[in-house]
Amino acid sequence: MTRPYNFSAGPAAIPEEVLQQAAAEMLDWHGSGMGVMEMSHRGKEFISICEQAEADLRELLAVPAEFKILFMQGGGLAENAIVPLNLSRAATVDFVVTGSWSQKSRKEAQKYAAEVHTAASNEADGFTTLPAPASWQLSRGASYVHLCSNETIHGVEFHELPDLKALGCDAPLVIDFSSHVASRPVQWERVGLAFGGAQKNIGPAGLTLVIVREDLLGHALPICPSAFDYRVVAENQSMYNTPPTWGIYMAGLTFQWLKRQREGALTGVAAMQARNIAKAQQLYDFIDRSPFYVNKVAPHCRSRMNVPFFLQDESRNDAFLQGAKERGLLQLKGHKSVGGMRASLYNAMPIAGVQALVDYLQDFERLHA
Ligand SMILES: *Cc1c(COP(=O)(O)O)cnc(C)c1O
Repeated sequence: MTRPYNFSAGPAAIPEEVLQQAAAEMLDWHGSGMGVMEMSHRGKEFISICEQAEADLRELLAVPAEFKILFMQGGGLAENAIVPLNLSRAATVDFVVTGSWSQKSRKEAQKYAAEVHTAASNEADGFTTLPAPASWQLSRGASYVHLCSNETIHGVEFHELPDLKALGCDAPLVIDFSSHVASRPVQWERVGLAFGGAQKNIGPAGLTLVIVREDLLGHALPICPSAFDYRVVAENQSMYNTPPTWGIYMAGLTFQWLKRQREGALTGVAAMQARNIAKAQQLYDFIDRSPFYVNKVAPHCRSRMNVPFFLQDESRNDAFLQGAKERGLLQLKGHKSVGGMRASLYNAMPIAGVQALVDYLQDFERLHA
């Protein structure tokens, strides 16, 4: 049986090898007589799963020793509150708004930060560009600067993170990297904290990843719930309360899958980056050459993970989606706030899946142009 290609934005496709391994271990993990979902999080079996997942992630993303890796719950949206609860120190926080997700983060921060300042926004361009860092109006003494490094809905990605120090800003950079975590290496020297829900690129929904520099721990506001205080979570190795054990296990299997990936001489996340660049280019090149389809995002900041596109003749949208489904190309409908189509090309999407999509785009155009 060959599975269809699943272009969902999230929860999204998981590598088939990972699903097969999880299925094989479902009833009895490594001879323990228990499935992972049935294990105590304090038992030696699960602790070994969790420690291995953390070590593999640290290696894959080259996370420096002065950063803690936390496995939390609540998703990206909860982090929109948890970050200001931990880092705002009741002072001004700066936001760079580049799409729906950073907009949502800014709104939530207003509940907790003394002041929320918009340092830059691309809203006037319909979220299709990225304001150049040199033009950002950063506040003096801000407690942090927040941006979403890949806007899942609008398909806008920072291909390089800003160097705040070079802009004369000492505040730590907070990135929401939910939808492109592990798709490329991270420039840690530019980051104070990175957070992401697992369900786009590293596993099932329910696990939230936080990677935070140690000096940012211990500054939570008094009202911050203990289970969301980064210092408490870090001091308890993510086991202050029951962690999302199944999500951690599945992410761990995905990290091992990532470590096995090869592109020429490259391995792991570097291999994924090369593959993701090739996948995105293949799709954008086709869309740009065709008079039948359009992508509106400026080429320098087009997301390699989420490709929103439109049929010039939108009356054919339903026929397009129906035909795609018949060809085994699933979940291509765009987000309701943007409309049109969206193809998400996360790590689990092979180059053959992108080729199948391009072939379909071409055939549909020939039939209807
Ligand atoms: C999906 C997503 C979120 C939302 O995460 P939840 O797990 O639904 O809370 C936040 N930020 C970005 C960039 C996302 O893609």
